[in-house]
Amino acid sequence: SFRLPGSSVRKADAEREAILASPGFGNAFTDHMIAIQWSVDKGWYDAEVRPYGPLQLDPAASVLHYGQEIFEGIKAYRHADGSVWTFRPESNGARLQRSARRLALPELPVDAFVESLRQLIAADGDWVPSAPETSLYIRPFMIADEAFLGVRSAQHASYYVIASPAGPYFAKGVAPVSIWLSTEYARAGKGGTGAAKCGGNYAASLLPQKIAYAQGCSQVLFLDNDGYIEELGGMNVFFVQRDGTLVTPALSGSILEGITRESIIRLARDRGITVEERRMHVEDWKNGVASGEITEVFACGTAAVVTPIGELKGEGFAVGDLSAPAGELTMSLRQELTDIQYGRRPDPHGWMVKL
Ligand code: PMP
Repeated sequence: SFRLPGSSVRKADAEREAILASPGFGNAFTDHMIAIQWSVDKGWYDAEVRPYGPLQLDPAASVLHYGQEIFEGIKAYRHADGSVWTFRPESNGARLQRSARRLALPELPVDAFVESLRQLIAADGDWVPSAPETSLYIRPFMIADEAFLGVRSAQHASYYVIASPAGPYFAKGVAPVSIWLSTEYARAGKGGTGAAKCGGNYAASLLPQKIAYAQGCSQVLFLDNDGYIEELGGMNVFFVQRDGTLVTPALSGSILEGITRESIIRLARDRGITVEERRMHVEDWKNGVASGEITEVFACGTAAVVTPIGELKGEGFAVGDLSAPAGELTMSLRQELTDIQYGRRPDPHGWMVKL
């Protein structure tokens, strides 16, 4: 059971409405947050809804030194009748548990994860925007905050949930993006933390991402050490082949198991499309686009749902045509998924959960 805040700290309606009118992404935060404590001795305790605000951390807190941190990303969507829904939250809860296991953090029960989202929406439901393709982006995360400098898993951790209203990812309509191939830097390796959603993976991706931006690209493509395609810095990747088959890199142990990825696979198979999860070499991407064997490439993830990839660039090469329109299958899968998320069509797999 969650303790509720004593004094309300709500922003003025006018201020909230001004933020919701043009939220951007990750700039502004709702009035409240969730906090749950954990210790070796007590297990999970002290669940509360509290005013959004700074954390007080001991300077020796292990997260600050050894990066023992994990997080999730999930959205709340407002439907036409005003109700607020989220998408497959048990999957995010289960992934947070897998991340916790890899980072030697405690596993929050999936029920408590889903309840933490409910509690935040109960307090801050009026922060869920209602304009088309907007949402409330919810960021659950967990840090090791024992004050101890020895290198071992911490005996105290805290779980928090914060939320930030999000505008439409593509303000001017969905447009194909350019992707930068990083051959110098890897994001993850065999046996590493690539399959976990931990801050360190993203820290490792920031330098190559800076290089990508400088090259006019919006995301980085990471390969494994043998040149096989893994994923983008924050999205999974799919290829449509001339014969209609959909291909996506298999879960190698070093890529993040995207919930959008799994949902796309399901929706495609429902349509009778063959989906192959297998290894794919970056040379097959380059050659396939050049020969016409690959007809569409897209990326997918919670933030941008489905994003057409128009071009792959790297040192000394570029393939694809950025000015070509987004692929037909790419756009129809995007439409189907967003229609389910925004309650515009039936939800055949029971993915939507009312908050
Ligand atoms: N890969 C990485 C590295 C990511 O950060 C994300 C975003 N969570 C994804 C893939 C897509 O995952 P999901 O569809 O669950 O958002």
